[in-house]
Amino acid sequence: MKLLLDSMLARTARWLRVFGVDTLYLEVSDDELILTAENEGAVLITRDKKLSEKAKNKVKILLVESTDFKEQIKQIVSSLGIELRFPEGTRCPGCNFSLRMTKDKKEVEGKVPDSVFRLQKEFWICDLCGKIYWRGGHWENIGRIFSSLEI
Ligand SMILES: [Zn+2]
Repeated sequence: MKLLLDSMLARTARWLRVFGVDTLYLEVSDDELILTAENEGAVLITRDKKLSEKAKNKVKILLVESTDFKEQIKQIVSSLGIELRFPEGTRCPGCNFSLRMTKDKKEVEGKVPDSVFRLQKEFWICDLCGKIYWRGGHWENIGRIFSSLEI
């Protein structure tokens, strides 16, 4: 299942990607959002009641209520029956491309800080934008948020 989030839900979109959900995020007009959801067969997710009313006869839509991204994710997951997959399904938060894990340090040599290169054994590469991720401090934070979702 593919999701399309509107421009009010940028943070939520990034987290959904990290948790392995195929998530489109666009800053475009309501009409373009509805059209994209139609073309992509995506579920449109918004907090905007007006957009929700406008779109409801054309595409599958979910109106989220909370302003908190964790509560939003919980609602999205329970309403749509989505399974979160972290870390094995994780996607690039910036571009939604599936990350590729590598243990071949040659691949990341010179592209990550020296200390990271020395200490880390596993890296996740986005083959679309070239970003490289590893289990740093931020990773623990992600794990904590993932556990706190309790889903
Ligand atoms: Zn990327």
